[in-house]
Order: sequence, then C-alpha cells, then structure tokens
Amino acid sequence: MGFTLGQSRTTSVSELMRQADYAMYTAKNGKTLDPVRYDVSLELDKLREAEITSALENAIRQKHELTIAYQPIVHAASGKMELAEALVRWKSETLGSVPPSVFIPVAEKTGMIVEIGRQVIDMVFHDLKDVPHLNVSINLSPVQLRSKSILKDIERLAKRHGIEPTRVTFEVTESVLVEDPELTAFLLDSLRKQGFGLALDDFGIGYSSIGYLRKFQFDKLKVDKSFIDDIGVADNNENLMKALVYLARSLDMRIVAEGVETERQRFMLTEEAYDLLQGYLFSRPLPLAELMPFIPETQLGSHASSELEELNFNIAS
Ligand code: C2E
Ligand code: CA
Ligand code: CA
Repeated sequence: MGFTLGQSRTTSVSELMRQADYAMYTAKNGKTLDPVRYDVSLELDKLREAEITSALENAIRQKHELTIAYQPIVHAASGKMELAEALVRWKSETLGSVPPSVFIPVAEKTGMIVEIGRQVIDMVFHDLKDVPHLNVSINLSPVQLRSKSILKDIERLAKRHGIEPTRVTFEVTESVLVEDPELTAFLLDSLRKQGFGLALDDFGIGYSSIGYLRKFQFDKLKVDKSFIDDIGVADNNENLMKALVYLARSLDMRIVAEGVETERQRFMLTEEAYDLLQGYLFSRPLPLAELMPFIPETQLGSHASSELEELNFNIAS
C-alpha cells in the first residue's frame, strides 16, 4: 500500500495520483509489508540507485574494483580461527567506497548480483588455492540461488581452482527457504552432496521458523547481531540466547554468534557454550594478507606458530 498526503489546491489531482502510485510501487518493492508514504526523497533514492547501477556495471566489467575482505570466525573456547567469512568490498572509480548494505540490494534488484556472486566465488576460490589451511564461508543471495546457473557455476569454479568443497560453507538467509522451498531444498541438497557446508545466516530476525530448520539441514546456525547487542541490556535476552543454543543442539547444528564487540558478550556466549564467535572484538574484516596471522599452521615454522598460539591466546583472553 502506498499513499500521499497533499492538498488539491496546491498539487494537481494527477500529481497526487502519481505520487501515491510511486509510493505504492516503492512499497511493493520493499522488504516489509509496511505501507509507504510518498516523500520526494523516494525519488532521489531512485536517482542514486541509477547511479549505483551504472557504476556497478562498470565494476563488473573492470574486475579490479571488487575485492574480498575476510573476517575471522573463532572458536569460543580457544579464540582460534576456524574459518573466515568472505565479504565483498567495492571501491568505485566514480563513487568511492560503497558499503555492501547499499549496493547489494541494488545488485539484487537488477540481477547483477548473479555475476557479482560469481566473481566473489572466483576470487575466494583463487585465494583458497594459495592458502592451504584457510576455510571460508561465502554469502549467497536469494537472487543468486534462483539463477539457473548457480550449481554449474560453483562446480565449474571449484574444478577450475581445484578446491576441496569441505573448505567452503555457503551462508543463506531464511527468506530463500520460505520463498521457494522446493527449489531451495534441491539446490542446498546438491551443494551438501558435493561436500559444501551450509549455514543459516541472520537467524532470529526473519521468520525464525523451526519447521524450515527441520526441513533443511544446516551445519551452522548464525545468530543475528541484534541478539548479541542485547546481551546484558534487554530483559529475558539471556534465556533466549540459551534457547537458541538448545535449538541448535537439538537439530545437530553448531551455533555461531555474529557481531561480538565486547568482553562481556564474549564471556556470556562462552558460558552458554556457543561454538563459534565472530565480531570486531576478534577482528574486523581484513584483506587476505592481514588475515594470515590468524590462520593455524600457516607455513611460518614452529617458532612462529608458538607466537601464533600466543596471539590466539591474547585474542581469547
Ligand atoms: P552479513 O552476512 O550478516 O555479514 C556480517 C556483517 O556484519 C558484515 O558487514 C561485517 O563487516 C559486519 N560485522 C561483523 N562483525 C561486526 C561487529 O562486531 N560489529 C558490527 N557493527 N558489524 C560487524 P558488511 O561486510 O558490511 O556486509 C553487510 C552485508 O552485505 C552482509 O551481512 C551480507 O548480507 C552482504 N554481503 C557482504 N558480502 C557479500 C557477498 O559477497 N555476497 C552477498 N550476496 N552478500 C554479501
Ligand atoms: Ca553472512
Ligand atoms: Ca549475518
């Protein structure tokens, strides 16, 4: 539903109709069911979107504007990195650095995410080939999953780079399970059969459906940052955090906390037996070269690896 408020004395009826119509289409394209009230900024957003679209087309062609940052995901108990989440970064020639929260939605709307996703997987697999002890997770957008070529793309790229699927986990959000359960079941099953890991991302903010969790088998449940933010702040949050651990355990999933920023959060999550933690407390997303010290058994020699232990200990404590 979209609407506009105005006076027919100052704005023509046809302009009011146009505005209401515009608001309605904005609402239809939105992620929520909320009605949208017309505001001129909606149309400015549209202009911005057109600008991002054309700069993004350029990025896809150029290939050097898109890069990958890796954020360590560490064992709660030891602080050692188990894997790193690959997060795309875009430095546009014309727009400068644009965060994924701005350009991914545009890329999804235009379908460009399919090619961007392909390039992300290509870059990450290339890195995996160079760094033998690194394991990663890669985000798959719902739009990417619906593209016909997704399975073939992943298979072809894994083959080209000679990547062992067990080193890669794909992260998906609940919306894909809900929107097209049959197709998604088929795709996720195929990925699992090839040996890839699967994680359910941003759990707790969407549908949080136990039915879907039972239907699709995930290795990891990633609890959304908003829950972690509430630790020590909101009432009942602690019970909820516990309940999520039970939920994960009963469905044979490991549980990951996202967005861990404070010692207090780390302490509480470790007490509650969360398996893996990710957040600025441990590290921000880093270029591959800077991720190296986190990688266990990097070819640094035994002396260096004891330094590594120390580093991990410091991170943990
Ligand atoms: P996400 O998958 O939930 O990724 C985690 C986001 O949280 C990342 O933001 C990361 O930098 C941020 N983060 C991690 N720890 C902390 C923390 O302690 N505090 C705070 N405030 N933030 C933290 P980023 O890199 O900006 O990515 C945003 C979203 O964009 C991602 O959310 C994901 O949905 C999407 N995205 C990023 N890279 C890709 C990609 O290659 N493909 C697709 N399809 N989506 C991507
Ligand atoms: Ca993710
Ligand atoms: Ca997430």
